[in-house]
Amino acid sequence: MKIVLLGAPGSGKGTQGAELASHYGVPKIASGDLLREAVASGSELGQKAKAAMDAGELVSDDTVIGMIRERLNEPDAQNGFILDGFPRSLAQAEALDQLLDELSRPLQRVIHMQVDNEEIVGRLAARGRADDTEEAIRNRLAVFAEQTEPLVTYYEQRGLLTPVNATGDIDAIQTRLIEAIEAA
Ligand code: ADP
Repeated sequence: MKIVLLGAPGSGKGTQGAELASHYGVPKIASGDLLREAVASGSELGQKAKAAMDAGELVSDDTVIGMIRERLNEPDAQNGFILDGFPRSLAQAEALDQLLDELSRPLQRVIHMQVDNEEIVGRLAARGRADDTEEAIRNRLAVFAEQTEPLVTYYEQRGLLTPVNATGDIDAIQTRLIEAIEAA
């Protein structure tokens, strides 16, 4: 079970990823969660990441790739994982391919969670996390369109992409995700 959840901020990767992780008995690895932990702990990595996060910009590829590399090497990730929020740029997708190559664990599937922008803005405004100010949200959506959306084509070309309609009822979306994973 080696799955990437790809989708805009607010597309429900966190909520659905947690359900999928418990369904399949593998860890959910969310780059945003790991970065927030680093910020809270005051580590050097956290100090480097904070300004970019507050502004809704991407944290540098090197920082995030190093952090994910460490996490994927931990024992609980050896049987698989659900990746949420990583990769988010072409450089990160290439680094992930290389990393999984080294570990002889190719990706199984990339799920593209599709939600329309109107629903996203409503969901994020309701969530109220520290970086959910209107300006940071707008910036995260722009950064997604610019840096992360090219990954749709990247994974399509590798035959790994499955689009899933991620609008509507949480349980119905979960069912669609499991169907998409098992049909692959
Ligand atoms: P959301 O999906 O709502 O944007 P996340 O928790 O995934 O929330 O990310 C929060 C912030 O953490 C991002 O705006 C960005 O600054 C940083 N971040 C998370 N994942 C990555 C990543 N893979 N590369 C660079 N920055 C990241």
